[in-house]
Amino acid sequence: MEPRRFDEELLEESLEDLYEHEPCGYISTLPDGTFAKVNQTLLDWTGYQRKDLLGSKRFQDLLTVGGKIFYETHFAPLLHMQGAVKEIAFDLICQNGKQLPVLISSTQKRDASGKPLFNRTTIFNASDRREYERELQLARKKAEQALHMRDQFLSLASHELRTPLTSILGNMQLLQRRVIRENTLSARDQRTIQVIIEQTNRLNKMVLGLLDISRIETGQLAIEQQPVDVCVLVGRIVAEVQPTLYDREISIDCSLQAAVIQGDELRLEQAFQNLIQNAIKYSGKGDAIVVEVSQRGAQVCVAVSDEGIGIPEAALSQLFERFYRADNVDQKNVSGLGIGLYVVKQIVELHGGTITVESVEGKGSTFTLYLPLDHGARLMHR
Ligand code: ADP
Repeated sequence: MEPRRFDEELLEESLEDLYEHEPCGYISTLPDGTFAKVNQTLLDWTGYQRKDLLGSKRFQDLLTVGGKIFYETHFAPLLHMQGAVKEIAFDLICQNGKQLPVLISSTQKRDASGKPLFNRTTIFNASDRREYERELQLARKKAEQALHMRDQFLSLASHELRTPLTSILGNMQLLQRRVIRENTLSARDQRTIQVIIEQTNRLNKMVLGLLDISRIETGQLAIEQQPVDVCVLVGRIVAEVQPTLYDREISIDCSLQAAVIQGDELRLEQAFQNLIQNAIKYSGKGDAIVVEVSQRGAQVCVAVSDEGIGIPEAALSQLFERFYRADNVDQKNVSGLGIGLYVVKQIVELHGGTITVESVEGKGSTFTLYLPLDHGARLMHR
C-alpha cells in the first residue's frame, strides 16, 4: 500500500514545546533532590514559578511530612540501588498549600564510574484516579455496612420470631389434643386447627433456617461430637417420614450393619431430612426415592436419589449458595427459601465431610454425603 503523504512542516514539532506541554510533569533534579529543570505542565499544576524551584528547592520540599519520610527511607535508597523507580504515589504540596495526588517514576543517570549525576522524573496527575479509588472505597464500605445490617436484621428477626411462634405452636397442639379428647369441635374446625398447626410448623422451619444462616455467618453453628451410627439414624428418619407419604415409597439400600461416626445427631438428622424432603418435594407420584448407605474407604456415603425434575446443568455450581433456587422449581410449584442445601453443606463440612450432586434435568438427582468414619469405628457388613 502507498504510504500516506502529509505536510511534514505542519507536523514538525519543537522538542522543547513537547517537553514543556506534555500532559505529564517532567523534572530533572540533582542527586540531593535540588530542582535543575522543570516543565511548564508541572508549574501549571502546582502554581509555582520556575524561579521558585530551580536551584533553590529540592523535590522532597514539595512533599508532605509522611511523603518526606517515605522519600528518604524508601524512594531515594531504591532509586540509588535499582537506578529506576516506577509509579510511586505521593502528594505534592502546591504553591497555595493544597495537595496534588501524583504518581511518579524516576530514573537515575550516572557517569562511567557509577556516580549519580542527576535524576529524571515523570509525574502523572492522579487526582481523578485517587478520587475514583476514594469512591470505590466508600462504595465498598457502604456495601459492607449493608451486609452487616442485613446479617444483624436476619439474626434479630429470626430470634424474635422464634419465641411467639413456639408459643403459638405449643398452644395450638394443646388445643388440638383437648378438642380431640373432648370432641367439642366439628370436623371442619378440627381440620382448620390442623392447617394452622401445619402452616405454623412451616413458618417455624423457615425461621429455624434463617437462624441457622445467622449462626453460620457468625461462626456459631456448633457441632457436638458424639458417636452416631449413620445406618441407625438413616433407618429411623426413613421410618418416620414414610407414614407421612400416602402414595410414595422410600427405599433404603444399606449393605452395612453399622457405620459409626463422631458427630451431632440432631444436625445430621437435619441434613438427611433436608435431602429426603427435597427428593420428595422435587419429584412426583410414582418416582422412586432411594437412600443408599455404603462405605468408601474411611468414609460412609449416604446417597439420596430421586427421579424428579432434576437440576439444570448451569445451576449445579450455585446450588449450595444461600438463597439460591434453580429456575426449574416453578414446574413443581413448591415454595422454599433456598436455605436448606446451604445449611446441609455447612453441617457436613463441620463434620469433616463433603457433599456432591449429580443430576440430569428432567431425569432426577442424587445428592451424596461423605462423612469420615470414627477411628477404629465399628463398620460391619451384613
Ligand atoms: P429450597 O428447596 O427451599 O428451595 P434448598 O436449599 O433445599 O432450598 O435447595 C436449593 C435448590 O436446589 C432448590 O430450590 C432446587 O432448585 C434445587 N434442588 C434441591 N434438591 C433438589 C432435588 N432433589 N431435585 C431437584 N432440585 C433440587
